[in-house]
Amino acid sequence: MMIYLDSAATSRPSEVCIRAMEQAMREDYGNPSSLHSFGLRAQLVMERARKQLAAALGCEPAALTFTSGATEASHLAVRGAAGTYGRRKRRAVTTTVEHASVRAAFDLLEAEGFEVIRVAPRADGRFYAEDIAAPVDDNTCLVSAMLVNNETGAVLPVQEAFAKIKREHPDVITHCDAVQGFLKLPFSADSLADLVTVSGHKVHAAKGVGALYHKKGIRLKPLLTGGEQEGGLRAGTEAVPLIAGFGAAAAALSASRKERHAQMTQLNRFAVKMLSETEGVTVQSPEDGSPYILSFSVRGLRSETMLHFLAEREIYVSSGSACAKGKQSGVLQQFGIRQDAADSTLRISFCAENTEADLAALAEALREAQVRLVHKR
Ligand code: PLP
Repeated sequence: MMIYLDSAATSRPSEVCIRAMEQAMREDYGNPSSLHSFGLRAQLVMERARKQLAAALGCEPAALTFTSGATEASHLAVRGAAGTYGRRKRRAVTTTVEHASVRAAFDLLEAEGFEVIRVAPRADGRFYAEDIAAPVDDNTCLVSAMLVNNETGAVLPVQEAFAKIKREHPDVITHCDAVQGFLKLPFSADSLADLVTVSGHKVHAAKGVGALYHKKGIRLKPLLTGGEQEGGLRAGTEAVPLIAGFGAAAAALSASRKERHAQMTQLNRFAVKMLSETEGVTVQSPEDGSPYILSFSVRGLRSETMLHFLAEREIYVSSGSACAKGKQSGVLQQFGIRQDAADSTLRISFCAENTEADLAALAEALREAQVRLVHKR
């Protein structure tokens, strides 16, 4: 029996998602832009999904643009906002712990001549709202901060920071990569930021679909042009099956957010207990982080060695962030984790299907690794 502890990398598509996708492919395969009634059917499928996603995000359906995933949504947010609001205001603010997709978007702004300020956590490894707000001035067009860090589960004080920024600089555009918080932590897009990024495959939908929430009145410069889809903000025929699955998955998960949070909190506590009792293991995630993500290091064993040792036992985890493909992003060090601990870091992440037995099996395998790989040296 395989044990999947890597839902922050990607999650298993839910049955409702697969059914909605299958229906969209078998029955409603028209082009939503077609003028005939079969095209209209596909459009209705997409609009139902938009409503489902809007309900899960706490916003109007019209505020959502479907994209190919969070990476595209964040690029549309960051580069799209800078493209309209950054003509005269040339400063942009972000953090040092963003996902590579947001980091890359800011690197592009920098290459275009923007002054990019990257706010780091303090020496205690924590972010403070006033630190994120501090560099914002009258010359700032955009601020972006993630809700939940994908490597440690740390929750950033985004709402507090953005509220403070808006009080002092109401014209600054705020963006939040909420990928690891969506349908896990309570928030509504409307009260979080002007622009919010979410991804389908982290919430039991398929890979290759995401969405950007944009507050009414925000003007973004599109990345992709050449069609009027998504109100002209994202040209190209919409991925109706993926979108239908995303809506269905979000609707199903939305109903269970609170219960899952309680379940994950309990599972996380159990994991911390099991891991703390295991020789050589140090838990690194903050106690008040998202219960869905847990980072720990295994003394004396490199992440990749451990990852493959576990995979041979059909236990699947990540080394740091899955997107980095083994390459370190430097984010752990930003949180104050020493290089040797970062080199031997593993990340486990949960979904409602995980059980305490999964974690007991993980702890057992970690003990076995100590005996086989460390003590034998
Ligand atoms: N942002 C965060 C915080 C993530 O964890 C991920 C995926 O790992 C992404 C963005 C990228 O999402 P996507 O694969 O939908 O582009």
